[in-house]
Amino acid sequence: MQLVDQKKRSSQEELEPVLYAALIDSMCQNFWPMMIGTLSTAVAAVLTAMKTGNVLLWPIAMAIVGIGTLRAFQMRRYERRTQVLTFDQARHLEPRYAVGAIVYAGVLGAWCFLTIIGSDDAVAHMLCVAVTVGYTGGAAARNYGRPKLLQLHILFACGPMSVALALHGGFYYVGLAVLLALFFFGLKGINLSLHAIFVKALTSSFREAALAGQFDTALNNMPHGLCMFRADGRLAVMNHCFSEMMNLSDDLVQRGASASDIIDACIVAGSISAASGKMILAEIENTRARDMITTDPDPQRGRFLSWTFQPMADGGAVVLLEDITERRNAEARISHLARYDELTTLPNRVNFRDEIDRLLETQKGSDHLSALLFVDLDQFKQVNDTLGHPCGDQLLCAVAGRLREMLRPEDFVARFGGDEFVVFQQNIRSTEEAAGLARRIVDRLSERYKIDNHLVEIGASVGIAVTAPGISADTLLKNADMALYRAKADGRGTYCFFRDEMAQIVEARRILELDLRKALANEEFELYYQPLVNLKSGRISTCEALLRWNHPVRGTISPIDIIPIAEDMGLIVDLGRWILRKACMECMKWPVGVSVAVNFSPQQFHQRDILGEVRYALEVSGLPAERLEIEITESSLLRNTQLTHDVLAQLHALGVRISLDDFGTGYSSLSYLHNFPLQKVKIDRSFLEGIDSDRPLTLLRGVARLSADLGMSVVVEGIETNEQLERISADGTVTEAQGYLFSRPVPSVRIRQLLNASHGRRPAEGTLHIVSSTA
Ligand code: C2E
Ligand code: MG
Ligand code: MG
Repeated sequence: MQLVDQKKRSSQEELEPVLYAALIDSMCQNFWPMMIGTLSTAVAAVLTAMKTGNVLLWPIAMAIVGIGTLRAFQMRRYERRTQVLTFDQARHLEPRYAVGAIVYAGVLGAWCFLTIIGSDDAVAHMLCVAVTVGYTGGAAARNYGRPKLLQLHILFACGPMSVALALHGGFYYVGLAVLLALFFFGLKGINLSLHAIFVKALTSSFREAALAGQFDTALNNMPHGLCMFRADGRLAVMNHCFSEMMNLSDDLVQRGASASDIIDACIVAGSISAASGKMILAEIENTRARDMITTDPDPQRGRFLSWTFQPMADGGAVVLLEDITERRNAEARISHLARYDELTTLPNRVNFRDEIDRLLETQKGSDHLSALLFVDLDQFKQVNDTLGHPCGDQLLCAVAGRLREMLRPEDFVARFGGDEFVVFQQNIRSTEEAAGLARRIVDRLSERYKIDNHLVEIGASVGIAVTAPGISADTLLKNADMALYRAKADGRGTYCFFRDEMAQIVEARRILELDLRKALANEEFELYYQPLVNLKSGRISTCEALLRWNHPVRGTISPIDIIPIAEDMGLIVDLGRWILRKACMECMKWPVGVSVAVNFSPQQFHQRDILGEVRYALEVSGLPAERLEIEITESSLLRNTQLTHDVLAQLHALGVRISLDDFGTGYSSLSYLHNFPLQKVKIDRSFLEGIDSDRPLTLLRGVARLSADLGMSVVVEGIETNEQLERISADGTVTEAQGYLFSRPVPSVRIRQLLNASHGRRPAEGTLHIVSSTA
């Protein structure tokens, strides 16, 4: 069964190409055996011809010589080739070889047949049988690569011989024929197992060679250096990377160098120091896995090498070597980046904080003071916006340079990000020294800079906090920041020391912020309403919604204190939404002719879906758009003009009226009146100051006339006295008035009463219906 399997496997198609070529190769390299075999057979054939006198045997003897010599020289030619036999060449070679072998076998068969049948000479019979059987034995050994060929040989050479023996007849001859048949059968088996052994040996040798090749490729292409030492401490493997990194010659492997030879060579090559070499040697002998890092003895090279030692199961060790210089440098760079500002190379916030912590610790118990100066550049943003970021960056570097120059070696400066710098001034005797440095910083940083051919001027504000016993770095920074806030509020270009009340103000604001967040949820807000009176009809035409906060502890808080904080906190959007909806709903309770005016802060006005907000408020309240007025200030018009224009146009298209509040307090650009779709202008009450003299009155009337001529209604805010009212209404351009004279802002219940009173009866023609003030 096994033999059958082997047989199957031996077919050319099933063999791997290299294996097949090697088998063919094994058959074609037998010049001398072939030559000697041929000559001996030819001599035997001649002897039989002579002994039997059969003339037919002479041509057979010649054929044996001719074919045998041809085959032998074919083999000789093959043996002389220098190239390895390829699969394709082997495929061409095999049939040629087979034809030669079969023809030769056929001639042998014919010789035996003619000799045995043609005579009774026992000697001639013995000669031809013995030589043919011997030759077949040789063929079985030579042709183990192709068993089929042997089988054909047996068929053509031994077949006629056995048949002739059987035909000759007689007990011994027939017996010999049977025995020979059995012998040939056994020979075939031997040949097949030889073939199997050879194929197996060849296969494993090919596999080993392939594996060795792969291992070699892997070893020499890995980025690490590798050395493998056997249990006796001799080098088994060293890859190319290792010898290159260590600057060693490749012949160390061939020499079977010991671990200490290798380490000595590394030391001689200047790749490791003698001390490192000693440690490495100890680790190779050690039976535990370990890592270590070495550096080059020559610091100029500056390499960091990582060594990994791994013991092997059967003794010996694997040493892995990696050049980690780049990784080390990258790590150093990252840690530098984490602690230094990339642009100015000054220490950053984290670094500064750590350093201050350390300095404060060392100063504990000393009676010297230190000061922390928080420096903020004024107008830096403008430089960035107008000249571009590269110029802004250069300016920051120049500022860092000037700060560095001004400080003593023991002082410390850092960049906190943006245009914020912090200086720590150590060991000062009085706060005057800190003030002096702050003054010098402000002056020096305010001097002109030349950046890319631009002359740039900026200013600086400084907040100063002085150390106190037990103060932490965080508190010091917080205090200096508060002082800086104050310095900026004081008009910039100055410095300010931290005082305790600043902390109280900040704390109060913080509490207010917390309360404000809760107030909306707790419904602590309320809307008051102040009427705007139509000067012609004397009736209330509109009521302005004004926010009030009923604080549980502090009582009613004015919107002037609420709105800026809500804006800073971003709460204004939610708060504004609530105000708008509440005001629209309240307006639905008023007489049909009365509108409601709602103040919009710039931030709220520029929120994404302002139109949707207004539409929704009108929808849920059921208020017609014509009864809603939105009051915006000039600062709302300043930002993003095209977008603002579009939003206003859309609101106007909806039917909502837009009124420009506090006109005259901001930029008072007359172009606003012309460029934006506004329906009302509210002249600020500051215009009423000094209205009893001619100039302010002329100014007010001029603005009112201009607005009226542009098709807008004109309102004057803050009318408190009858005289003011008379003066503004004298020329008839002002359409509406608002002020304490008519009514202070009042709660919703009260405004409803006022409206009922105002709209309940018809005022006499030409007279004003002045509603009394109650709040
Ligand atoms: P504003 O929109 O110009 O509102 C008029 C302010 O002038 C109101 O102050 C009002 O009480 C006050 N006022 C009216 N008549 C007189 C008068 O005859 N004499 C004097 N001295 N003052 C008068 P209020 O309610 O304190 O509001 C101040 C500002 O707060 C408002 O000025 C407005 O800009 C803002 N504000 C009020 N409510 C809201 C709101 O709901 N949303 C937004 N965004 N801002 C609001
Ligand atoms: Mg207003
Ligand atoms: Mg106003």
